[in-house]
Order: sequence, then C-alpha cells, then structure tokens
Amino acid sequence: MSVVGTIAVTCPACGRDSECQLVQSINTRTQPAMKAKLLAGELNVLACECGRRTLLAATLLFHDPDADFYCQVVPGGDAAMTKAADLFRASGATGTMRLVPSPNALVEKVKIVDAKLEDWAVEMAKLLLLASLDANDLDRVMLFDHADGEAIHWILYDGAQPEPAKSPRAAYEKLAARALSRPVAREMRIDRAWALTAVQQMIADGN
Ligand SMILES: [Zn+2]
Repeated sequence: MSVVGTIAVTCPACGRDSECQLVQSINTRTQPAMKAKLLAGELNVLACECGRRTLLAATLLFHDPDADFYCQVVPGGDAAMTKAADLFRASGATGTMRLVPSPNALVEKVKIVDAKLEDWAVEMAKLLLLASLDANDLDRVMLFDHADGEAIHWILYDGAQPEPAKSPRAAYEKLAARALSRPVAREMRIDRAWALTAVQQMIADGN
C-alpha cells in the first residue's frame, strides 16, 4: 500500500503557501524510487521558491519486505510513540519493527539494514565510541554512515561541518554476538537511551 497525497504548506521563512507532495508509506519492493528520495533527503520536503527547504513533520511507514523490516517515523513525542507502538503490535505485522522520531533517524536505520547489521549493536557501538571521544558528552549527534570489513563509519553532526569518525568492525561484531543484549521483540525504540541502558547492563554483568 502506498499513501501519497498533496497538502498545502506554508513556508516558515516567507509565508508563501505551496502544494507539497506528502508520502506516508514506502514499500521498498514496489517503490524503490521513494526509498532513493528518502535516502537523498528529498522526501516530504517543501522546497519553496524563496529557497528555504522545510522538512514536513509527518508519520511515515517504511517497509522493506526483503529484510522483513518495518520502521515508522512518529513525530510528536513519547505519547505519540506509545500509541504507535500499540497500533503496530495490533496490526499483526511480523518481522523487525522500529519507531523513530524523525526522517533522519529512519535514514540511519535503513542504512544499517542495507549494511546487514543489527541496529541495537550499532547503537551500543556508537555509544561506546562517543564515550571514548568524550565520556562527559554522550548526547552528540552521530549517525551510522556505512561499514566495510575493517570499520564502522560514522558522521558527527555537532560541529560547524559534518565530521567523519570510525570504530573497529571487530568491536561491533563482539557486541552483535551478545545474545544477552539483544532486545526483545516488543522493544521498538532502539536509540541512544536504549543503548545507554544496554551498555550499563553489560558493564554490570562484567562481560
Ligand atoms: Zn518561502
């Protein structure tokens, strides 16, 4: 199923009203072009004549049937997330289900799935890398970019310019092999907060 519509949006910069395409559902098998737009950061963006680009805050369901992976963008905070999780469970869909707050977070999840990595182990590896950079600042914006045989490659977004970072692939593999850390099926929010708890548990376990 694809949900594509058009909505009227007011540009926050100049106040001009424009019609904008709004995509609320992507199936990667039937809509590869929509996935490409998402990865390029061009999905659900109002490109105003004045030059301002505005990302629309909208619910978006991403489904990759080949990876058996679902991910839903849920703007609107914790209450909206909880409601979406209940609906997701009630839908009877099987496979991996994730809820994320923004299209950028969805893009990261899609890159992780495409790299055939486990997102929970990626989040743990990310947190450990952040801790090694600065143990007092674990809230820096860093996103998975790609992986090769040697390393996991990241991009740090908190400076004036995006900055690359990397961590050893072997460290990720070690985390991914930890059955104890693997989230239960009901757990749909695999993010920084989840990783912090998982890493603290790993340290408490002493292995
Ligand atoms: Zn404008």
